[in-house]
Amino acid sequence: MKIRDKFYIDGTWVMPDGNDALEVIDASTEEVMGRVPAGSAVDADRAAKAAARAFESWGLTAPEERRTLLRKLREGLAGRVGELGEIMAGEVGMPLAMSEHIQAGLPLASLDNFIRILGDYPFEERIDNSLVVKEPIGVVAAITPWNYPLHQIMAKVCPALSAGCTVIVKPSELAPLTAFVLAEEMDRAGFPPGVFNLITGLGPVVGEALASHPNVDMVSFTGSTRAGKRVAELASQSVKRVALELGGKSASVILEDADLDEAVRGTVNDCYFNSGQTCAAHTRMLVPQSLYERAAAKAREVAEAFTLGAATDPKAKLGPLISKTQQERVRTYIRSGMAEGAELITGGPDQPEDLPQGYFVSPTVFGKVDSKMTIAQEEIFGPVLSIIPYKDEDDAICIANDTPYGLSSGVWSRNEEHARAVARRIRAGQVVINGGGFNMMAPFGGYKQSGYGREHGPYGLEEYLQTKSLQL
Ligand code: NAD
Repeated sequence: MKIRDKFYIDGTWVMPDGNDALEVIDASTEEVMGRVPAGSAVDADRAAKAAARAFESWGLTAPEERRTLLRKLREGLAGRVGELGEIMAGEVGMPLAMSEHIQAGLPLASLDNFIRILGDYPFEERIDNSLVVKEPIGVVAAITPWNYPLHQIMAKVCPALSAGCTVIVKPSELAPLTAFVLAEEMDRAGFPPGVFNLITGLGPVVGEALASHPNVDMVSFTGSTRAGKRVAELASQSVKRVALELGGKSASVILEDADLDEAVRGTVNDCYFNSGQTCAAHTRMLVPQSLYERAAAKAREVAEAFTLGAATDPKAKLGPLISKTQQERVRTYIRSGMAEGAELITGGPDQPEDLPQGYFVSPTVFGKVDSKMTIAQEEIFGPVLSIIPYKDEDDAICIANDTPYGLSSGVWSRNEEHARAVARRIRAGQVVINGGGFNMMAPFGGYKQSGYGREHGPYGLEEYLQTKSLQL
């Protein structure tokens, strides 16, 4: 049981304003695994003021000084990978070995990237008689979700601190525990007081207090489109900069000249990763009508080979969903797919019989899905794949773009030129060609209602910079 009863504000652990607490539940066992304080607007105010004070000097530090501290932080976190992986396997339900590798590994990769970027990023540029300088924007509120808890935090904290900003982190109330480990390591690394602050609590309370706080210069939000819109609305009152990384309904477009088996396998694996709780998951598989039967049979075979199990079960390839609410939400979507006439190829809405405990949903595939159906339009955030047959390439591109979202997508073809040409017509922030790997130096972010702003790599750093011209 991990009990946290203090916030990290201004370089020390302080008692929260009130006594309310939030329980953290283990997704596989449904048991309470921890407790954190439920903060208030008073806590948010303390943290924002501390961050504003700290910015006065931190904002003037040299990149090399910030880099040295990031290196120390990396050392500290690297020593706690096992503990971090275990916490997130409990909170999120991701199988333990995968959790260590992905959930604890990605934050280290983020640190490595920004340590590298700070080595030679041009913070100054000469344009004729002007010196253009890139300066930190100021105090950043980082509001993050539960699906990749520490990765989402580090995707904001690393570039913000690298830029010279100070930060207040408000992690998801469902998976807040690793943020406390991060705060301990920030402290140990020797970041000056107020540069990094941590408060926990509910979005409508602490999140909204930060999004409206006069001392906060920028809100970087990752989460649902619904909450993102609210954050942007509140932040607009004081014209804060806002970056929104929101939901997705990404299409995997399998072209006629693709290696069909490989493309289907790649798409199903992508869709089910982290039990489908990935914003960029390829949840719609678009296949030529003529190849539909073969694609459906292959998808079924791949889906049925996924072993469901508790995060601690070494045989498990697919863990539970994070919460009862999420499980219910996904089951409701599966029922809606059945009611709207999609063909249920495998899976379904029932709790798997051999796993009565834990928020499990069986790997599910729907066939003959129409693009107008609810399961083809809305983000499900569970292990549910929709196969949509298409007539020709124009039809495929039209379907790929036919949702309010535009976060990611995929194109499969044996001919890379062909795949690239199709990729350019898809309105999404990334297009994965033939299963190309996730590159954390490349920009990541959305088109349309998947948000705005980019994370990772040099583009991620620039989100946190202001541009000033000195005319000489
Ligand atoms: P969520 O919107 O419920 O919560 C995200 C964060 O926002 C939490 O910290 C929450 O406390 C806070 N929040 C909620 N309401 C708020 C409000 N009114 N004001 C301020 N803050 C508020 O999302 P979630 O359920 O934690 O995460 C799932 C969603 O996140 C999915 O839609 C998923 O697609 C999206 N997501 C997007 C990305 C991306 O990079 N685009 C990455 C991961 C998750």
